[in-house]
Amino acid sequence: MKIIRAEHRGMCFGVKDAIALALKTARQEPLTILGDLVHNETVLAELQARGVRLVQSPAEVMTQTVMVTAHGASERKIGETRRLGLHVLEATCPLVHVAHRSLTKLVGEGFHPVIIGKRDHVEVRGMTEDLEQFDVVLCEEDVASLREQARFGVLAQTTQPIEKVRQLAQCLRDRFPNSEVRFVDTVCQPTKQRQGAAVELAQKCDVVVVIGGVHSNNTHELVRTCARFCARVHHVQTADDLRGDWSLADDVVGITAGTSTPDSVIAEVEQRLINTTKEQHETCMV
Ligand code: SF4
Repeated sequence: MKIIRAEHRGMCFGVKDAIALALKTARQEPLTILGDLVHNETVLAELQARGVRLVQSPAEVMTQTVMVTAHGASERKIGETRRLGLHVLEATCPLVHVAHRSLTKLVGEGFHPVIIGKRDHVEVRGMTEDLEQFDVVLCEEDVASLREQARFGVLAQTTQPIEKVRQLAQCLRDRFPNSEVRFVDTVCQPTKQRQGAAVELAQKCDVVVVIGGVHSNNTHELVRTCARFCARVHHVQTADDLRGDWSLADDVVGITAGTSTPDSVIAEVEQRLINTTKEQHETCMV
């Protein structure tokens, strides 16, 4: 077996900074995180082991300080939390802030906002909760169901693949030729790099192992992208999800990982792949 790692893989700066802030704060005072800081079970378990509490709504917060995740939150949600007398610590990624600012500008200039992303994703809810009118689309059927507006302002959840985003923006232009459509590219650079590296990787490999949380949107997008170029793609959360019957001994195996996957988890998966293949090889020799 030969293992190739994607040139760009794993945890992005936005997630690393958010985790560092959570750990630093938790050393100084009790901390609650509102929502999942990252969509990675391993990271969340480590934070809980260090005393950080994880809750889903402001009403459940029992500490004075509460952290908003890297995915960001709406002004409405932050205001609601502050009105409970809590100190709000924002770990929102700067690139999510860029998306929020772009959205505010589009709405301010009279564009009807259309967000390309998952309606129920925490980042998208953070964008839409402050809006009176908006649409969220994820596929061409969603675009087909939109009502005509004089001006559409289109942007994306930061972790959507840029090709899909551009394609849906064009689809909207084609469907409403009489409308003004302004597109702002809010897909983040780490997502673009990981997507691009995944395409290169999948083209060279017999098998690709994508490592990331089961609720991680960008990990699922990496799986989908790799599957366009490679017939055997496996999504694992940790090394324990690797299966002996994948028979990788004679394969070129690619490894990539989502933006919330720690380097330690990637290293464990790689080492387990090497160990399993060695064992299979030795068993065959006996
Ligand atoms: S995926 Fe992009 S937007 Fe999200 S935390 Fe990482 S760098 Fe920021």
